[in-house]
Amino acid sequence: MKVEPLRSCIACNEKKTKKELLRIVREEDGSYSLDLSGRKNGRGAYICPKLSCLEKAEKRKAFFRAFKENISEESLAKLREEIREIAE
Ligand SMILES: [Zn+2]
Repeated sequence: MKVEPLRSCIACNEKKTKKELLRIVREEDGSYSLDLSGRKNGRGAYICPKLSCLEKAEKRKAFFRAFKENISEESLAKLREEIREIAE
């Protein structure tokens, strides 16, 4: 049996397989989006597919740690929408 590599959520630090987490990518133009195909280029970070972890990530400055920059309110709102669609 193949052992799945684990990734940890940038908000709660729980270790899970890639399938159980969402990959957030910072694209070259500086925008953030969810990488649902797993093939987007850019710096990525993993997060649980729930809004509570997104809020936690924001509060804990997890985006700054993962991407070395503060995420804009606009990008955050976009991610919130994308996660909300998946989480429902
Ligand atoms: Zn989490």
